[in-house]
Amino acid sequence: MVKLQIIDRGISDKPTLKAMTKVPRHLFVPAEIADEAYDDNPLPIGYGQTISQPYIVAFMTEVSRPTAKKRVLEIGTGSGYQAAVLAEITDTVYTIEIVPELAKEASERLISLGYKNIITRFGDGYKGWPEHAPYDIIIVTAAAGSIPKPLLEQLAENGRLVIPVGEPYAIQELMLAVKKKGKITTSRLASVRFVPFKRL
Ligand code: SAH
Repeated sequence: MVKLQIIDRGISDKPTLKAMTKVPRHLFVPAEIADEAYDDNPLPIGYGQTISQPYIVAFMTEVSRPTAKKRVLEIGTGSGYQAAVLAEITDTVYTIEIVPELAKEASERLISLGYKNIITRFGDGYKGWPEHAPYDIIIVTAAAGSIPKPLLEQLAENGRLVIPVGEPYAIQELMLAVKKKGKITTSRLASVRFVPFKRL
């Protein structure tokens, strides 16, 4: 998976590649489809949600520039896979999931896999998690109509926010927002298709 889907398509960040090699993706998908876990596509994880395609996880990870000392917020825990990849590299990952069953499953999965540096929570990630802000990295894995303001506010100086923006179930733009001297600049990275960002 890492060689054919990720390295051959141009991902070169060493920590990202190491993390993608280490995290056992087959333990993040339903047991019935464990044999498809390393395929080149997203997979259903129940409740109408999906675990992202491996390449997209690697791309979003590389673009966020994770290093050991960084504090990370993820919106959309889903299976917990993206959180696990980030937690292999960074100090602490805070992650919020809006579907209570998925939040519970992911929390149990991450504990059983021994990830002590991932803090999970059920809730609407629109408002971020102000108690632990500011974050060096914010990764949103559901497509929003626009970038939620609270997330921009909770971004640290030199922080990087990666988020798909666009209409539900349409082609969306993966956007990068960077905060420098308190000012946000955004750029488009790629066309993507994510599940919709929901509100409670
Ligand atoms: N990062 C996940 C991908 C999950 S798909 C993984 O690696 O498996 C996106 C997830 O975002 C879904 O589980 C969906 O329920 C969740 N979601 C959508 N809107 C949300 C919101 N406002 N707050 C938190 N989670 C949300």
